[in-house]
Amino acid sequence: MRPQEGGFPSIGAGLPRPLPLRRRETLMRRALDVAAGTPDGDVPVGAIVVGPEGTELAAATNRREADADPTAHAEILALRRAARALGDAWRLTQCTLVVTLEPCSMCAGAALGARVGEIVFGAYEPKTGACGSVWDLPRESPLHRPEVTGGVLAPDCERLMQRFFLSLRRGGGAAGLGATTVEGAYGREPNE
Ligand SMILES: [Zn+2]
Repeated sequence: MRPQEGGFPSIGAGLPRPLPLRRRETLMRRALDVAAGTPDGDVPVGAIVVGPEGTELAAATNRREADADPTAHAEILALRRAARALGDAWRLTQCTLVVTLEPCSMCAGAALGARVGEIVFGAYEPKTGACGSVWDLPRESPLHRPEVTGGVLAPDCERLMQRFFLSLRRGGGAAGLGATTVEGAYGREPNE
């Protein structure tokens, strides 16, 4: 990272220009479609990774409950698939991660490690969000600072999760869940 005049680091140097808003919304609609395919019992979250040319490299839903895997968040699965799609590269420089929910610390950390160029997310996550809500890992990272845009189609992303938690409560399986908003989606335990 080369210092600019005045000594400030050149954040994002060498990365592509940020996506225009309309493009971000189009990608988020696709992530919402992906989220709709989340297995029953899992918090509905969808993620896609788009390559430098704009092609979709990978898509995944949250599968934490389905796979009984604490790391099976949509973003982790999508990043892994994107790296496989690129062949021999673990670096996803100039790729964009689009996800319906603000990434948690694990997923934000993975995105930084993968060197993604941009993170676009929908609903903010005030209990576990690590892209501005609780922590801000992308902006605090000393090594790699992707562009971050939050709140893209947030009402749609929040509605998806509200419906999920409402159906859980109606089903009686999670009477104590009490989530009428997106708050604490990953922080809560659907099976408790
Ligand atoms: Zn996560």
